[in-house]
Amino acid sequence: MHPVPPVPAERLPALLAAMPKAELHIHIEGSLEPELIFALARRNGVALPYAGVEDLRRAYAFTNLQSFLDIYYAGASVLLQSQDFYDMAWAYLERAAADQVRRAEIFFDPQTHTARGVAMETVIDGLSRACRDAKRIGVDAELILCFLRHLSEEEAFDTLEQALPFRDRFIGVGLDSSEVGHPPEKFARVFAKCRQQGLHLVAHAGEEGPPAYVWAALDVLKVERIDHGVQSAQDPALMKRLAQDRIPLTVCPLSNLKLCVFPDLAQHNIRQLLDAGLCATINSDDPAYFGGYMNANFLQTFAATGLDAQHAYRLARNSFEGSFAEASAKKRYVEELDAVFAAA
Ligand SMILES: [Zn+2]
Repeated sequence: MHPVPPVPAERLPALLAAMPKAELHIHIEGSLEPELIFALARRNGVALPYAGVEDLRRAYAFTNLQSFLDIYYAGASVLLQSQDFYDMAWAYLERAAADQVRRAEIFFDPQTHTARGVAMETVIDGLSRACRDAKRIGVDAELILCFLRHLSEEEAFDTLEQALPFRDRFIGVGLDSSEVGHPPEKFARVFAKCRQQGLHLVAHAGEEGPPAYVWAALDVLKVERIDHGVQSAQDPALMKRLAQDRIPLTVCPLSNLKLCVFPDLAQHNIRQLLDAGLCATINSDDPAYFGGYMNANFLQTFAATGLDAQHAYRLARNSFEGSFAEASAKKRYVEELDAVFAAA
């Protein structure tokens, strides 16, 4: 591990903003800003149940996962053509590049679109073209297809079937949407099939759900990363397992704040996760809805919890270690990270 020199507190925000990092937990549909939703609605002639951008922004005052998901699915209704998916992904990738994100592993929810009659190919084509073009702005971007866990495993199998012709354009699968009442075991067979296909496996677990869901994601679904996972702190044996196996947790502080997983950022357990030796990372989840992209998550979390430069280095390094990038790319990212810290 690179020795991290002490950094005066007033210089920490600039370091957080400038350090290279990977984003491992971003739902591309959750990056849709109200302005783009209205622009796409106009382009596609879609009527929205909101008077305008400000009216839609006001509706973002949700207080739990379900009320958020209701607005999230309404926003996605403007996405119809390949170019719409491209524009959405490109808007995110430009913001990621500005936040010094070198690697982005982007979730997408095909069922949100195929259920509205949009073809799988349309979704994947637009998103994957944007990911390919992102190299131009210094971001290595890959796609992870997520199954909506409030739907059935049969529907997940159908989705996988539709996506397999485009297998070369996504690197893994995940599990998202309403967690409580939809334990990982529900998707054991479809994850086994994805594993046979050589896809990387991740799942949301332990956001609002109990530690038992994290155990099941690891032992039944055999995931390589846990998305969120903050409830793991309730279970010492689980914390030990996560630390020993270096299972990355893709933690999303501003999302946790907005969805009231923690009452305020100062009480977030990110420090506890890091101090226990976990491969915890910081991510934005649904940045248009939760009040901030990557650097906003870093800056606000550090300001609220008093994390220091050592934590910053570990978080950035964990993000590269926890990514599905090739070893040579990881080495390159970490060298750049070390150079930034050496100059700090
Ligand atoms: Zn998420």
